[in-house]
Amino acid sequence: SAKPYDKRFFDAALEARSSSSPSNIELVYHDFALGEDTVFLAQGAEAVCVFVNDAVSAPVVEALAREGVKAILLRCAGFNNVALDVAEQRGLLVANVPSYSPEAVAEFAVALIQTINRNTHRAYNRVREGNFALDGLLGRTLHGKTVGIIGTGKIGVATGRILKGFGCRVLAHDPYPSPAFADVGEYRTLDELLPQCDIVSLHCPLTGSTRHIINETTLAKMKPGAILVNTSRGALLDTRAVIKVLKTKHLGGLALDVYEAEGSLFYDDHSGEIIQDDVLMRLTTFHNVIVCGHQAFFTEEALKEIADCTLRNLEQFAET
Ligand code: NAD
Repeated sequence: SAKPYDKRFFDAALEARSSSSPSNIELVYHDFALGEDTVFLAQGAEAVCVFVNDAVSAPVVEALAREGVKAILLRCAGFNNVALDVAEQRGLLVANVPSYSPEAVAEFAVALIQTINRNTHRAYNRVREGNFALDGLLGRTLHGKTVGIIGTGKIGVATGRILKGFGCRVLAHDPYPSPAFADVGEYRTLDELLPQCDIVSLHCPLTGSTRHIINETTLAKMKPGAILVNTSRGALLDTRAVIKVLKTKHLGGLALDVYEAEGSLFYDDHSGEIIQDDVLMRLTTFHNVIVCGHQAFFTEEALKEIADCTLRNLEQFAET
């Protein structure tokens, strides 16, 4: 699912390489999500390069192996969209871009927090209609708030560090505590963290054990009026349970960069338009909800690093 901007950054990375040493890499771009109906496009390729919205399911991996593909190169960190077990069985190498700009995602998470906190999204829409009135826009000062970071990997630590700079008290939950978080805040169990936090920001990967980590039970433990932010993966939230607590106003605000079934249910792969989906559409009816289309990573710097790292992965694969 290569977009014109991917082509721009990959072509530039390839050109930068070929000026130092000639490259025998040929890149072919397809602006279609990889799936069972498009896997034939991989015919003749030694490697395919995919993104989060490509469904690299077990049958797709089987089909790739039959087409002679030897490597699956992810242009992202998360690999929950790849049937890793089948790739291993069929001897396909899978490589990701483990870190391309944790700051890009962290800064976006904080921007979402501030947007919800200060109702900037609503103010902007009103001003476009000539309405400069402040009623309904009363915000909350971030300084002094308690923030809970779920997952203190590269992005979670970067987010915590920025929020500490705003004067927040930063708590975190992670089954594998990180020394990098030591100067940012303190660890708590999830049950201890949730009732204390004014803002909860999700930064753990989507796995079997984190799917719906935010559900009816954990939402009930959150502080009334708290804000929830998800820039990680949509299925960390049970979206239907979230809608219920938005209705009761137990949840004070929600900012999503990612949402459940992203890429498979909501997008028309050909036009790129959002297909009407009940759950997503219901979310967008709330004034205190922002939904973005997975753009937290989307900076010049991150796209450059994604292209460079993917080519490094490809070169390493070619050498083996
Ligand atoms: P990372 O691997 O550095 O950190 C993930 C952390 O989550 C680890 O410390 C891990 O121990 C922790 N974790 C695992 N299970 C947990 C659980 N049950 N509870 C709490 N923590 C748990 O990953 P990262 O680079 O910081 O990225 C985090 C996530 O952000 C990725 O998995 C990806 O889904 C998402 N992401 C989103 C975008 C975007 O554009 N929106 C871009 C990049 C990454």
